[in-house]
Amino acid sequence: MKNAVAVACFALNGLLAASAGAQQYPTRNITMLVPYAAGGPTDTVARVVAQAMTKPLGQSVIVENRPSAGGILAPEQVKNSKPDGYNILIHHIGMATTPALYRQLRFNPLSDFDYIGLINDVPMTVIARGNFPAKDFKEFLDYIKKNKDKVSYANAGIGAASHLCGMLFMSAIQTDVLTVPYKGTAPAMNDLLGGTVDFMCDQTTNTTAQIKGGKVKVFGVTSLKRVPS
Ligand code: ASP
Repeated sequence: MKNAVAVACFALNGLLAASAGAQQYPTRNITMLVPYAAGGPTDTVARVVAQAMTKPLGQSVIVENRPSAGGILAPEQVKNSKPDGYNILIHHIGMATTPALYRQLRFNPLSDFDYIGLINDVPMTVIARGNFPAKDFKEFLDYIKKNKDKVSYANAGIGAASHLCGMLFMSAIQTDVLTVPYKGTAPAMNDLLGGTVDFMCDQTTNTTAQIKGGKVKVFGVTSLKRVPS
């Protein structure tokens, strides 16, 4: 898993229903559901996109957070909504991976939605609490390996990009540590800043400001090239 992506989708047939009444659509506000907590990277992208959509559509796009660990409740809500184009979902790589990770998922990412398009493609960043006792990647790995029973890794629940990134990391270094699931990486970041969890892997969208502000330590990015920011 190299990057985390954001896509937007309608409940199935949303586009068809919308195009049948193309002259009228949209005649009222559109709700954009975010599967994670406010203030996190998915929420940040949603708010930028919703704002940008408002002018050309002539209607407000209201962002609504429906956070749950793993982000599995928002897709279910959009699936169960009227397929008229007024309930849209923004999600990421989790739409593709959750079917392999949950035994009982109450939506099918392929057959229950119409996909509108890819919005962005952003690398993940491996970060640790500001006082993590390592100054480079080698020391970071050494510390984790030596203290694997004490170290904890925050994420947004099973299937979230932060979870997959951490799993990949642990598998690469062949060391398992305690994973702490949150309803999004906004609350996970708060605990990382407070030092109650040790490290996290999250979209650059959410990590850049904290890195630049010296609040967290950064040890790597998941892109092949160095991230300009
Ligand atoms: N960054 C989270 C993730 O792990 C989701 C979020 O809070 O936006 O996928």
